[in-house]
Amino acid sequence: MAVEPAASATATAVATAAARPAQKPVQGAFSGAALRADFPAFDTPTHLGKRLVYLDAAASAPKPRAVIDALADTYAHHYANVHRGIYELSEDATGRFEAARRKVAGFIGAPSAREVVFVRNATEAINLVAYSWGRTNVGRGDHILSTQLEHHANIVPWQQLAREVGATLDYVEITDDGRLDMDDLRRKLEARPKLVAVSQVSNALGTISPVAEVVELAHAVGALVLVDGAQSAPHMPVDVTALGCDFFALSGHKMLGPSGIGALWGRRELLDGMPPFMTGGSMIIKVTLDGAEWNEVPYKFEAGTPAIAEAIGLGAAIDYLEALGMDRVREHERYLVEHAWAALGEIPGVWRLGPADPELHAGVISLVLEGIHPHDVATVFDHEGIAVRAGHHCAQPVMLRYDIPATTRASFYVYNDLDDIAALTDAVRSCQQLFNA
Ligand code: PLP
Repeated sequence: MAVEPAASATATAVATAAARPAQKPVQGAFSGAALRADFPAFDTPTHLGKRLVYLDAAASAPKPRAVIDALADTYAHHYANVHRGIYELSEDATGRFEAARRKVAGFIGAPSAREVVFVRNATEAINLVAYSWGRTNVGRGDHILSTQLEHHANIVPWQQLAREVGATLDYVEITDDGRLDMDDLRRKLEARPKLVAVSQVSNALGTISPVAEVVELAHAVGALVLVDGAQSAPHMPVDVTALGCDFFALSGHKMLGPSGIGALWGRRELLDGMPPFMTGGSMIIKVTLDGAEWNEVPYKFEAGTPAIAEAIGLGAAIDYLEALGMDRVREHERYLVEHAWAALGEIPGVWRLGPADPELHAGVISLVLEGIHPHDVATVFDHEGIAVRAGHHCAQPVMLRYDIPATTRASFYVYNDLDDIAALTDAVRSCQQLFNA
């Protein structure tokens, strides 16, 4: 039975909200305040009775009602194990699960849904490549290239691989304003690495890296390119075919979807040539007591029962984002970043990290308030109802680069607006007053 999930009422409402004339001048591509009505998280005031100003999407995003409803509806009415039942409910669940895979493929411009492997998150996607492709294709004396801008998820798997097989791992340096040093990339490509692992958007600084250019340069020396899209897929149009990359990793929970679901996209011929990452049920075609034959991709990489409802929930998140339009999502965040960067720049004692050019800066601003520890900043912000992240953001090499232990990070999404930025700058001033900084 062919089953397509019903169009979400909330997704339709979103499209309407986005098109609806706003009460006040629209701030960005659409009204963040109108969109907040779609997110139950904003219905509840914070512990001190303040309006929630959520500036931590880069860690994990709140869920729109459409996603929560899709999860609840799946568990209530469409839940059974997938790919194995010869009964209607299982076929229904399988149809919805596979429809979600097609949505992910369409969302990132993948030529085929068969190239989309469901995993738990971007970390698992990168580990899958490091273990399966890496242990097969990288050997003693080979080189791997990552960058100083990466999240630990795009560093540690390569460190482990290099250690185990006797390869060397090097990193492209970053400039003072947090961009990839492309001259350093060119120099380091002379070692002819087997793979370049690079993020499209830095979670620590918000830098948007020129990934298509990295791919061109890397391919010219025969290197494959893995793009960590954990921070790009949620916030800008992504087209893996146009980028020309070989692998692309994303996490559902950062793009309004449930936690526990993510995706790895890989070029078909690469996936076909890779051994399984985990083994067991579902990933086989035949098992005897002497051995087993692997299933075709993507199932070869999906051992055991997958996160069924979560995949369907991710499909609902994609519907929601596509109803807004990813171009407009990016435009909205670009507008917010430009305003936040300028407003924060007017406050003495605030150090902003990352590129000043909003074209190169996604919806993440990392701050240091002179003389105040980022954890204290986040605590003061919390009293104002503002949720930010303070710490090294799982990007310690970035902190080392600037010789700081941590930053305070504000990250924006579709539900944010200029009121949130005003709340942020007010909180920065209150914090400075409190600490006499
Ligand atoms: N890569 C980047 C750039 C990230 O920002 C993150 C999470 O913050 C990850 C990878 C890992 O994502 P997850 O924890 O969902 O696996």
